[in-house]
Amino acid sequence: NLKKVLMSACLLGKKVRYDGGSLSVNDRLIERWVSEGRVVSVCPEVEAGMSIPRQPAEIFKGSGNGVLDGEDDVVEKRGGIVTDDFISGASIALELCNKFNIEIAILAEFSPSCGSSFIYDGSFSGNRIPGMGVTAALLRRHGIKVFSQYEIANAHKAIHAASE
Ligand code: SF4
Repeated sequence: NLKKVLMSACLLGKKVRYDGGSLSVNDRLIERWVSEGRVVSVCPEVEAGMSIPRQPAEIFKGSGNGVLDGEDDVVEKRGGIVTDDFISGASIALELCNKFNIEIAILAEFSPSCGSSFIYDGSFSGNRIPGMGVTAALLRRHGIKVFSQYEIANAHKAIHAASE
């Protein structure tokens, strides 16, 4: 019963980012997870029905899991409010974790969905602040360990510490 992991699709080279690009991480551990059949890929924003490309979005007043508590909003650069889409994408990611018994996720840092330690501050000026994207926050709230692409070695340890 192989432990599966959830991964941001953009980290696997899929061109799903707001600008139509990917964030491919060339890491042999990720290649190994893929070849072992552990990886379940998700782009919460695309799963929620958002287009590629799409407007860049940031969490306004990004205060960790404030979006889930109804305190903050996810806003597009041109001003549209897309909070509901982001929450719906996060729910789809959580459903995948439940379906595949996933306890570990590797998500793309700085994203308003996937960021797990840092996000942009909501001013669209490139400032990063400590905080979590909507999907990372929801998964953590449900006990899933979330790592970023900068923590691959730690994620690998966590995978192998979990019972196979
Ligand atoms: Fe999709 Fe997350 Fe990558 Fe953004 S960071 S493109 S939401 S997988």
